[in-house]
Amino acid sequence: MPNEFGNQFHHMHNKYGTYDSICDGCFVTVATVSKESDLAPAEDTHVCDPVLVYQISESARHALSALNLDFGKPRYREVWR
Ligand SMILES: [Zn+2]
Repeated sequence: MPNEFGNQFHHMHNKYGTYDSICDGCFVTVATVSKESDLAPAEDTHVCDPVLVYQISESARHALSALNLDFGKPRYREVWR
């Protein structure tokens, strides 16, 4: 369930029995606890660092450009008209 800031969290059950909560927005581990139900307080108050979110979006943009995915190119038919 998203917190009041709209963030969603993924829970991971670790090898040694602890639980991590990972934020979908900034990919930070917001808490590591021994009982999954104890993750809620950290999730409820988590706010993504805007600088970190910007850096993640820039990294994704660079990764897409490295793959030569230019969505702004005209389609084949438009080129030959
Ligand atoms: Zn976050």
